[in-house]
Amino acid sequence: MQNFIKKVSFFLFSSSSNTDRNTSKRTIISRKKHGISRKQIDKHALDVLYGLKRAGYDAYLVGGAVRDLMLGIEPKDFDVVTNAEPEQVKQIFKKRCRLIGRRFRLAHVGYGRNIVEVATFRGDGEGEKKISRKQLNNTRATDDTGKLLRDNVYGTINEDIWRRDFTVNSLYYNIKDFSIIDYAGAEEDIKKGQLRLIGDPKTRYREDPVRMIRAIRFAAKLGFDIEQKTKDPIYEMGSLLKNVSHARMFEEVLKLFHSGFAVEVFEKLRQFGLFKYIFPQTHHLLSLEEQGFPRMLVIEALKSTDQRIQAGKSVNPSFLFAAMLWEPMKQRMEQHLAEDFTHQDALYAAANDVIREQIIATSIPKRFTAQMREIWSLQFRLPKNNGVKSQKLQVHRRFRAAYDFLGVRVLAGETELKELFDWWTVYQQKNPLEQVAYANNLQQDKYPKKTNLGRNPYRKRRDDSEE
Ligand code: ATP
Ligand code: MG
Repeated sequence: MQNFIKKVSFFLFSSSSNTDRNTSKRTIISRKKHGISRKQIDKHALDVLYGLKRAGYDAYLVGGAVRDLMLGIEPKDFDVVTNAEPEQVKQIFKKRCRLIGRRFRLAHVGYGRNIVEVATFRGDGEGEKKISRKQLNNTRATDDTGKLLRDNVYGTINEDIWRRDFTVNSLYYNIKDFSIIDYAGAEEDIKKGQLRLIGDPKTRYREDPVRMIRAIRFAAKLGFDIEQKTKDPIYEMGSLLKNVSHARMFEEVLKLFHSGFAVEVFEKLRQFGLFKYIFPQTHHLLSLEEQGFPRMLVIEALKSTDQRIQAGKSVNPSFLFAAMLWEPMKQRMEQHLAEDFTHQDALYAAANDVIREQIIATSIPKRFTAQMREIWSLQFRLPKNNGVKSQKLQVHRRFRAAYDFLGVRVLAGETELKELFDWWTVYQQKNPLEQVAYANNLQQDKYPKKTNLGRNPYRKRRDDSEE
């Protein structure tokens, strides 16, 4: 009996502690068993893998690409990992290769517009490769919260695996024999549909708080559950996101909301209490009006983003940020109008206010803030669709985004804008001559002189200076 208990507890222990490097077992999944063929792998990634192999290095396809191929999903990008150091990768691929990154040094091998990212195995300095203490200090560093500042200690595959985030992201496809190496029980987690952090979750989140956001993104994208021990610390560690560089946070926001699963990502971020660290002002309004308008606008904007991505259409960060910050911006605008600002000044000041506050959480590159302002400002100009004005608006470089934004507002409940939105839909379907007649008709017949459509609901005083 005692033996039986021992056996069972050993089984339970060993199956749940695969992410512990001392007890993990390396499993090789043969070509025959995993069924992934080279035809499914991007030809440039294959070229890089073969190039490294020919030069005598080990080379593996790693991370999301192997995970997605195992799941039958088309990978977004193909990452390669090797024992060649970045400079050696440069020697092989010469002009094709560019070395990038300080925090995490990488090689980019370019084929026209396509880039294959090549990383060198990361180590911890404790593995087989001896590294002097001085060199270690130069290459790997954490701050007093445990956050990794640099991670440029090179190592072996046996070390690299433990630096990866989730088990399902730690599969290595070996170009030498087309097998897949699984150290951390990834195959089992894929079968279970489970996201599990490698190592001690709290330490791993402290090292890099972005892993909390990545957990949300992968859970939404893959439809996986987050394993309990991986999930629990997120509720209490969210505030560490404040320490992440704002530029990186901006990139992560795009990955989150341009994943094709933005609605689900949004719900999960809220559920785990992380949304407030990404869009604090939107979070504040959402908490005031849980059932109301702002939530609907955000959801409709995210739905529309998901639909565009699934249809293979382009998406623009400024649309996303304009939608997320529309309600906070409108609220600020009302305050400024109450302070007797002109409409245009109120809009300008409100946009400044919300952007200034947002960049405390995530940066927004200048070109996008300029576009956000245009989308917002056009919301007040689209109702002025009389005569030649419509022509001017239609050729505005942000017209299309502003028109889509108007559509989202209609879907989110501003039904009084439906007539205006439909007007613009019809207008765009006409040829230029018909457009003139259509826009003039509007002016002469339907809305003679005093049209209410053109009036700005926020304007308290007459302000003819606008436009
Ligand atoms: P996607 O489908 O979004 O490309 P991915 O898993 O490939 O997902 P990437 O950001 O492309 O994600 O990263 C490639 C791999 O690098 C990951 O699969 C993971 O193994 C590792 N990785 C990336 N970011 C981190 C991180 N913050 N901490 C630890 N490992 C990471
Ligand atoms: Mg990837």
